[in-house]
Amino acid sequence: MYPHIITYLLTFINYQEQIIRTLLTLLTGKSLFNKPEETPVNKPYRKLQVDDLPMIETYEKLDYQLLLQEFLETNGKPLKPVKRRKTSTPVPTSLNCPRCGAPSDYLYANNGGKGQYQCKVCQCLFSKKNRFLKELILKCPHCSKSLEKIKERKYFNVYKCKNNNCSYYKNKINGMSKKEKKQFKKDPQAFKVRYIYREFRIDYKPLSKESPKKPKVDLSRIYVSSHTLGLILTYHVNYGLSARKTAALMKDVHGIHISHQTILNYEKSVALTLKPYIDYYPYELSGQFCGDETYIRVNGRWHYLFFFFDAVKKIILSYPVSPNRDTVSAIRAIDEALVKMKKIPEDLTFIVDGNPIYLLAQHFFAQHDIWFDVKQVIGLTNEDPISAEYRPLKQIIERLNRTFKGNYRSTHGFGSENGSVAFVTLFVAYFNFLRPHSALEGKVPVVNPALEKITTMPGRWTKLIELAQQWIIEQTA
Ligand SMILES: [Zn+2]
Ligand SMILES: [Zn+2]
Repeated sequence: MYPHIITYLLTFINYQEQIIRTLLTLLTGKSLFNKPEETPVNKPYRKLQVDDLPMIETYEKLDYQLLLQEFLETNGKPLKPVKRRKTSTPVPTSLNCPRCGAPSDYLYANNGGKGQYQCKVCQCLFSKKNRFLKELILKCPHCSKSLEKIKERKYFNVYKCKNNNCSYYKNKINGMSKKEKKQFKKDPQAFKVRYIYREFRIDYKPLSKESPKKPKVDLSRIYVSSHTLGLILTYHVNYGLSARKTAALMKDVHGIHISHQTILNYEKSVALTLKPYIDYYPYELSGQFCGDETYIRVNGRWHYLFFFFDAVKKIILSYPVSPNRDTVSAIRAIDEALVKMKKIPEDLTFIVDGNPIYLLAQHFFAQHDIWFDVKQVIGLTNEDPISAEYRPLKQIIERLNRTFKGNYRSTHGFGSENGSVAFVTLFVAYFNFLRPHSALEGKVPVVNPALEKITTMPGRWTKLIELAQQWIIEQTA
């Protein structure tokens, strides 16, 4: 009934818990890996309500040469380029009008060098930074009226439908109880009654994956045999033993002296070697994808690991680590999954949790004409039909998260961001290429005959590294 009070209390509880956690960490010298799972389920992010996508219309593209021709025919004289005084702001010669393609000679610098321009040929207004935005007209999906920009934030602009006859607005007002109406009169800001859209301005070009680059790593500096390296990776990644335990095991069982720091260094080198292979492998995908976040400790601070995953083929498609659980991270995670699809399917759907960042990410991609559906599985019980239908898929990725945590738990003593990301990369290599999966009749997600022939896990690690090295040489030759 009083959502702001609940949010406040939750924030306070979280804050208290953070203090307790910090104190415990100081007392025991250990970080408590599982703690975030125990934070209240009703996380504050729920209060952000994301509306449907607006209707996005693009300006029709025009041809400046035809327009100049028309001008000449109607006026009997050609349209002259912009006359510039010595004092006027220069227009970069590389700039064209985004709507009609007119060269820079026909462009006015509109507002004293702040990067806004106007085309003399087609009158189109645009800015250098966000050219594509100016080509879009945003309309309310409920009443088809143009949306009005009401706020400019760091990463996005906020648009609102201000039409009083809009069905969205009318339904919200009519749906209020007497008490709510009274409150609304006193404090209209506390209610969201109008359609809102957030337009992203972040500098991120989707689907613009570069070709693979040769990693800057020299495996010849690993001074153990490839079999020993395979053993180390098996204990450390497959069995989730910490670098210290792995070092102890190597000494006690195999009689090989190697420090835990050296193991961490090897881990980094192997991760760098395998990363292009994992990221550019031509995976065969199913079309059922889900995403989830989990927490990892990086440099003494909690970070988020985003997993996107083919739920049927059991292949991890993206695994970015970010200090923030924000829309930019969600966009990155989805983009890394999208680039692995040979073609983006028409009925593409991502199943995720109730976090609104995924809906905002969906809107971002729609702005770039990349369309997919987002289904949110919310809470612990099936209160809505979507949650009931897609929960099994969501549970699959939650299981993946548990597997990851099981392996990660003992290895979380990493001091640096790189160390942690290296382990995540190795885990993905293990999960996609080496780990037999019961749901796949004991097969690994990516079946590779060259790996299948080898019976032991250290041997398979060695072969996988060899395949990755061979592959990168072929790609960059
Ligand atoms: Zn133009
Ligand atoms: Zn409207």
